[in-house]
Amino acid sequence: MKRKNYNGAQILIRVYKQTLRAVPVSAALGILNYLMQGLLPAILAGLLAGMYDAAEGSLREKGFEGKLLQMGGMILAVYGAVYLLQLAANVAINAGIYETCTSFHKLKLTEKNARIPFLALEDSGLLNLRRRAQDCAEREILSQIFMSSVVFVTNGIGIASVISVLASYSLWLVPIAVLSVLPFFYARLTRGKEFYRIRSGQARENRKLDDLWRILTTKESVKEMRVTQSAGYVFDKWRRTRDEVAEALRRENRKEAKSCFSCESIKILGYCVSIFIALALVLNQEISIGVFGACIAAFASLQNTAKNFLMDLGKLPEQLSFAGDYFAYLELEWNEQAEKRIENIRFTKKMEVKNVCFRYPGCERDTLKDVNFSIREGEKIAIVGENGSGKTTLSKILLGLYPPNAGEVFLDGCLLEKHSGQSFREQVSLVSQDFVRYALTLRENVGISDIKELSNDAKIRKALERAKAELRDPETQMGKAFGGLELSGGQWQKIAVARGIFRERGFLILDEPTSALDSLAEADLLRTLLEMAEDKTAVIISHRVSLCRFVSRILVLKDGRICEMGSHRELLEKRGEYARLYMEQKKWYDL
Ligand code: ADP
Repeated sequence: MKRKNYNGAQILIRVYKQTLRAVPVSAALGILNYLMQGLLPAILAGLLAGMYDAAEGSLREKGFEGKLLQMGGMILAVYGAVYLLQLAANVAINAGIYETCTSFHKLKLTEKNARIPFLALEDSGLLNLRRRAQDCAEREILSQIFMSSVVFVTNGIGIASVISVLASYSLWLVPIAVLSVLPFFYARLTRGKEFYRIRSGQARENRKLDDLWRILTTKESVKEMRVTQSAGYVFDKWRRTRDEVAEALRRENRKEAKSCFSCESIKILGYCVSIFIALALVLNQEISIGVFGACIAAFASLQNTAKNFLMDLGKLPEQLSFAGDYFAYLELEWNEQAEKRIENIRFTKKMEVKNVCFRYPGCERDTLKDVNFSIREGEKIAIVGENGSGKTTLSKILLGLYPPNAGEVFLDGCLLEKHSGQSFREQVSLVSQDFVRYALTLRENVGISDIKELSNDAKIRKALERAKAELRDPETQMGKAFGGLELSGGQWQKIAVARGIFRERGFLILDEPTSALDSLAEADLLRTLLEMAEDKTAVIISHRVSLCRFVSRILVLKDGRICEMGSHRELLEKRGEYARLYMEQKKWYDL
């Protein structure tokens, strides 16, 4: 996995590109609105100065009333226009830039999730990065960056125009206004760095919280916890983790509140100084009383706009760091070169597994050790072994989902790699013990394995019939939580088998396909599956050795190694591991 690191400008460009692609009209309205907001203080300062002078003039003599009314009218008109624009922009910002854009970012993450190599899902570093990217999308940070950068530019215009007005009254007031709010920038910058450090370090805890929440809310785990009366324990664990996460952020928020208080005090001090300076200018008759009011208003306005500007600027590095994680996740690469040189590979005659070793990321020992075997077209082999011997791991290697750490898998002499795995998997029909229970219709539960055939009612019914499933009506809604039908574990497994049967392919992988069935139903279904496998190549994985009588070759796995290989009869005669497993299980059937 190669993580790309981007600088602030590269991230900002990416944020703009995504926002303009997702919501171009809302983005334009947002920009226009803040442009007007930026110009407003300068326009108002000019109009107010005129109005104060007119007011002062009308106190002294007659004839200023008309100008006073005109100035008042203009101020109202400007406010009205800006208000209307603000209303429209508020809708565009909330519905477009925040809501629609956030959905767009989540969609991008979902698309990326679908493309992650299967083995990468074992990498906790990647899972943490994904959690941070998810956090960034959910907290709408990309929309915030877009908005604050727009406000940032327009506030800049605002500041420049107020500075030009204020500088015409007194040059001194400009640096005082800016310096009095500069601490806001440093405070935000420092706290922002800390917030990012804390939050990004919490990705693992957040994943733990997600997992505990899932345990606390899913039906199966709730049942087990009710029986074992462990819900309180799990809930306490969730609460403690959540409190730790929240406390670290609360501590940082308290520090931020303290620094904000100090910054506000300096700002007020600056304001007081400006009043003294402006008063001195009035006393020196350098400015009129009317200009005094405008001068103070312009000073306050400069302070506020500069404060917002500096706060946004100080916050930007923190936001960009979060967005950097989002884009780093979206643009993660896995061995792109290999991807380019892949052609489609197919199984027609032979699959060869040569010296395959496999170790899960972060583990200290190999799960599969030096595995060698081959399977010819039309052959049926069984892989047996005790729990944990490596059967399921081997099936994932055969499917090209996990790349071996050493050794290779060849299909008709071509190397099966993770990138070419997809073209091989198109030839495979899989029935796995960890099947999915889709809360969709029965049609979708069966037909999802071959979408092109989804509307083929006859085929769906036939698959259900062959899998000995009790249901037939394709429109039956499944899953009680969504107003549908609920089934037992075994009944769900029959639907999963129907799904495998529905996908008519030449290479079958059956990974403990009957694990949730009682022995009668199991024998019945195994017979169907073996019939179905008759003209196909099949790999049947099971910890039950009883079905091995029906396959031509049996591979016995022990601690990740093939310890025996041969037919049922040969292996029984050998009196080794297979014979031991067979006798062990036979004892139970003889009871
Ligand atoms: P089987 O299917 O024979 O029961 P598996 O292939 O599921 O065995 O597991 C083989 C070994 O690999 C076990 O010791 C198990 O603990 C380990 N293992 C399985 N999945 C993972 C994983 N995701 N990460 C680390 N180790 C794993």
